[in-house]
Amino acid sequence: MSEKVLVIGGGIAGFSTAIGLHQRGIDVEIVELHKQWQVYHVGIIVQSNFIRALAQLGVGDKAVQAGYPYKGWRFLKNDDGKELARDEGVSSIGEEYPADLGLARPALHDVLFNKVSELNIPLRQGVTFTSFKQTNDHVVVEFTDGTQGTYDIVVAADGAYSKVREELFAGKYKPEFFGQGVWRYNLKRPKDLEWAEGYITDPTRSIGTVPLTEEEMYIFVCCCEPGNPYFPPETLAEEMRKRLTGYGPIIDSFAEQITDPSLVVYRPLEVCIVPKPWYKGRVVLIGDAAHSATPHLGQGAAMAVEDAVVLAEELDSPASMEQRLERFMERRFDRAKYIATQSMQLGQWMIDLDSNANPIGVYQEVRKKIAEPI
Ligand SMILES: Cc1cc2nc3c(=O)[nH]c(=O)nc-3n(C[C@H](O)[C@H](O)[C@H](O)COP(=O)(O)OP(=O)(O)OC[C@H]3O[C@@H](n4cnc5c(N)ncnc54)[C@H](O)[C@@H]3O)c2cc1C
Repeated sequence: MSEKVLVIGGGIAGFSTAIGLHQRGIDVEIVELHKQWQVYHVGIIVQSNFIRALAQLGVGDKAVQAGYPYKGWRFLKNDDGKELARDEGVSSIGEEYPADLGLARPALHDVLFNKVSELNIPLRQGVTFTSFKQTNDHVVVEFTDGTQGTYDIVVAADGAYSKVREELFAGKYKPEFFGQGVWRYNLKRPKDLEWAEGYITDPTRSIGTVPLTEEEMYIFVCCCEPGNPYFPPETLAEEMRKRLTGYGPIIDSFAEQITDPSLVVYRPLEVCIVPKPWYKGRVVLIGDAAHSATPHLGQGAAMAVEDAVVLAEELDSPASMEQRLERFMERRFDRAKYIATQSMQLGQWMIDLDSNANPIGVYQEVRKKIAEPI
């Protein structure tokens, strides 16, 4: 097939799409807004379906090597660290895919970027679109570097604050503040820390540590942030320490190490779930541009890579573009929406202090769901 695809956004979804299309011999190029990569230094948690999807792109092993496959979750009493429960990570997909992996964002970026470079996929950094016009057969895109290109399809992988989504749907879908924020900071990993650990403090917040490499782990606290306040950068360490105060000596000892405000990553949680279809004509949204949910399940990156794998498969078909995109929606919409809804449910229970909350039930159902083939 001699079609040409433009991917807007060089993040997890965009790189994965480009790799998947290139593997199928489809001509693809990427534009990325930022000249210098802006990848936060902290980590994410991912599960076996993420590794399975990356394995289809030929980089599953590299991602596992770049991260730390931890043993599962231990839930600890905050004051004395006594274990209250544990959820051993058993891969619902297969032993070759670790159930749980801690992964620094820059390490994941390097895995994907190195593959894009190795495949010589054209990538222009510091460039984005200024406009796109659709005809029946093509999309004509004008770029900020003064060039123009004609494509068979444009894939918008430009994240939660997608400018393509804004244009395509005339501003109809916008991120909305969810009520909570997440604070993260990297710390030295104790040599014996092989589990992710969640501290049972009070139901308004979750505090935990996740191994990232042999040397590093990160600590996170997710809690309500009424009114979505702005925090001046120089106050971030102090603000994060405040949110960890009052939970006993173990958490105090972590908090004491949070000293450099420039190394604190704070993100208010904002959500935007676009109803189907995620496309209009020959422009399609994927990843966070289509479904940015909360991170309570640690599934955002997996959904982005799965979108990419499925889109590449569907575009590599002789059907009409409409049929190919329709088929992509059939395979992706319900799954991505289900994961987003379950993830947001976990957060909503914390906000509402809901006594009927059943997070364990959600985790069990989600483990079954993610094992399903995509
Ligand atoms: C606090 C927090 C914690 C999270 N924790 C986890 C976790 O533990 N596990 C997990 O799986 N997920 C987690 N996520 C979600 C995860 O980060 C996202 O789901 C994932 O990054 C989506 O990938 P993406 O490629 O769609 O978007 P992004 O990663 O946002 O990439 C978008 C790319 O597009 C570029 N771009 C933006 N605008 C333009 C433009 N106009 N033109 C060209 N390029 C553009 C950006 O610079 C970027 O490179 C978390 C999210 C948050 C906010």
